[in-house]
Amino acid sequence: MSLYIVSTPIGNLGDMTPRALDVLRAADLIAAEDTRHSGRLLNHFGIETPMWAVHDHNERTQADRIVQRLLEGENIALISDAGTPLISDPGFHLVRAAREAGVTVVPVPGACALVAALSASGVATDRFVFEGFLPAKPQARLARLEALAAETRTLVFYESPHRIRDALEAIRDCFGDDRYLVIARELTKTFETIRGAPVGELLAWMDEDANQRRGEFVLVVEGAPEAERGALDDESLRVLKILLAELPLKQAAALTASITGARKKPLYQQALAWKEQG
Ligand code: SAM
Repeated sequence: MSLYIVSTPIGNLGDMTPRALDVLRAADLIAAEDTRHSGRLLNHFGIETPMWAVHDHNERTQADRIVQRLLEGENIALISDAGTPLISDPGFHLVRAAREAGVTVVPVPGACALVAALSASGVATDRFVFEGFLPAKPQARLARLEALAAETRTLVFYESPHRIRDALEAIRDCFGDDRYLVIARELTKTFETIRGAPVGELLAWMDEDANQRRGEFVLVVEGAPEAERGALDDESLRVLKILLAELPLKQAAALTASITGARKKPLYQQALAWKEQG
């Protein structure tokens, strides 16, 4: 009958909402990213609803089976390992398929690391861009960050302990030593740490204390100052667009800079951003 998208805690079990518990108890089936992991959570709350595994590798086939059961009149809840399903977690194909089949999809909101980090970061929250995880490969990571260097909205990234240092280094290399950034580590858990400073300082702090590289991370990065974008007046953007249709990225940026007097770096970053957007 309905597909419920249920948020679960990101560390502190006290963040499980009463409504989430009611929905999980009453559901005919719980679709879970990892049934062993979620089994512990359900066990803690005495919930005995049967589970099916729905993860990145089987989501498309499972989605068809789940939609079938929904159409037969069952209520099904989707949960992920932590936080809100679909936010850097599986569920997109299932929700899409359910909505296309005319099934009612009901959000049951709760914890989400991205929102928790933003809300406590002290960085502007009126406009932000969620980038999920940066690419694992160094070259792809740099390309992604280059494309974002002139972005004036707040940027939010997820990061794992294996790559946190590399990610900070890449941010420093692309955005400069002084870009202000907040690291939100282990939110809602015993070692919760939220620290803001220019990225160069945060790297030094992390190098001094290995504990700061442990756990789960959200990075909230202040947007680029408007001035960096200011160089790109309408005329420069128009010329850049025309030249990009004929020339490689670097050449188009350089030529636009000579024609309009705009700075080469933001032109190059703008060209990259367009290319990424297709
Ligand atoms: N769906 C989840 C949500 O709503 O936030 C995110 C799932 S994603 C696979 C896992 C990533 O979220 C972690 O690598 C980390 O970047 C972030 N994350 C999850 N829990 C966190 C926590 N307690 N503190 C900081 N970051 C967390």
